[in-house]
Amino acid sequence: MADHIVIVGGGPGGYEAAHVAAQLGAEVTVVDTDGVGGSAVLTDCVPSKTLIATSELMTDMSSAQELGVNFHDHQGDAATTITVDLARVNARVKQLAADQSADIAARLDRDGVRVVTGRGRLGPDLTVTATTADGEETLQADAIIVATGAAPRTLPSAKPDGERILTWEQVYDLTEVPEKLIVVGSGVTGAEFASAYLSLGIDVTLVSSRDRVLPGEDADASAVLEDVLTRRGMNVLGQSRMQSVTREGDTVTVTLTDGRTVSGSHCILALGSVPNTADLGLEDAGVTVDDGGFVKVDRVSRTSARGIYAAGDCTGVLMLASVAAMQGRIAMWHFLGDAVSPLDLKKVSSNVFTSPEIATVGWSQNAVDAGEIRAQVVMLPLAGNARAKMQGVRDGFVKLFCRPGTGIVVGGVVVAPRASELIHPVSIAVSESLTADQLAQAFTVYPSMSGSVAEAARRLHRV
Ligand SMILES: Cc1cc2nc3c(=O)[nH]c(=O)nc-3n(C[C@H](O)[C@H](O)[C@H](O)COP(=O)(O)OP(=O)(O)OC[C@H]3O[C@@H](n4cnc5c(N)ncnc54)[C@H](O)[C@@H]3O)c2cc1C
Repeated sequence: MADHIVIVGGGPGGYEAAHVAAQLGAEVTVVDTDGVGGSAVLTDCVPSKTLIATSELMTDMSSAQELGVNFHDHQGDAATTITVDLARVNARVKQLAADQSADIAARLDRDGVRVVTGRGRLGPDLTVTATTADGEETLQADAIIVATGAAPRTLPSAKPDGERILTWEQVYDLTEVPEKLIVVGSGVTGAEFASAYLSLGIDVTLVSSRDRVLPGEDADASAVLEDVLTRRGMNVLGQSRMQSVTREGDTVTVTLTDGRTVSGSHCILALGSVPNTADLGLEDAGVTVDDGGFVKVDRVSRTSARGIYAAGDCTGVLMLASVAAMQGRIAMWHFLGDAVSPLDLKKVSSNVFTSPEIATVGWSQNAVDAGEIRAQVVMLPLAGNARAKMQGVRDGFVKLFCRPGTGIVVGGVVVAPRASELIHPVSIAVSESLTADQLAQAFTVYPSMSGSVAEAARRLHRV
């Protein structure tokens, strides 16, 4: 008889595991509260990148004049402003997210996966009880995957009201452009929203508790980004820790721990995420969580309880949809006896979707500086790239790290428009242990931004 896999949570960690399990012949049930696709599709990743698609267009338009394009109004006068219709943008965002969720549901259905809409809770002896609109159903499993994701962190002193004090899940209900937006938090999510709304023509203040934006990213990359954002008019408040956010009428006030205040019309809280692991029955099932509530897993997604795996944001391993999906697949390859390699975080490429984008893979400058790995580093500004000049791109660079002895590429950073696409050759080099010479020898198109990836690799040639 086929193994029965029960997956709690239908985000990328859950639905990708479901596809693999179905492909390997298991009977699969996914229990999900909010609709398959999870937060990734419904509130986080897909909606924010759809919003950013509009902001990218606005950024491109802002350089139109330099490239010789003028806009005129219907009377032939020069148009000086381009405005965004936020209600239409947000309607498109929500529709696209719903469509994507429906596509995922249809694919799961084609694979024969059963989706139960309800809240799952683990019970004893590999059981999951789903509470649905029709009552309770207890499912007996051979293996369980916990993939319940995470939710925006809020504070008692900064409570979202869904109107003017917003989590990142609530911004798509805005129908009018905020007059003055304050974004609290300068990690990836805060930086992405601040950059996107700035491009939409909104007055943005970014409140950062650290001395620079994106404290977790490559320092050269965040310096470029901060420089671009401030040049484009963003008010970046470094070393400014938020104490509270309050609202009076149409005014939102952020009070900082040093007593200063910042006022605006709206505030987005980007204070990190908390795992959805409370009241899941994890303790009774023998699953260990850490102090932050994240499920502890090994590199093949096993928890401390036999037959129970966990994937995605609820594990806190690396909060990316791509990593969640891979953890879910690995869990199923492992349990169902297929070939499996443990998760290797040094091969994960990731991107910050700001303008310009920041993409990274492999070992970082921080690790090199801290002596965790010996590596040669080269950093090549994009300003010298012919295609960049043609497109009016002045900010950004390609940085590569390779081992001094062998020349094997172990990491890289790209700061550029569409860096998320340009990082792929570096990602292949890291994943396949290619040398800088091998990366340099592959033809690139002339003129192209990727020419700078090959050029940086050429500069690492050892004589
Ligand atoms: C604003 C933002 C932008 C992002 N952009 C990107 C990006 O561009 N690229 C990227 O790789 N990552 C991005 N991420 C991260 C990405 O969204 C997450 O890493 C990803 O959603 C994790 O997937 P998951 O399967 O672990 O959980 P989720 O996608 O959160 O899905 C979990 C699902 O489980 C359900 N659930 C929870 N508890 C239960 C229960 N008890 N029973 C049943 N169901 C339950 C939830 O309702 C949800 O549907 C972004 C995150 C944010 C906040």
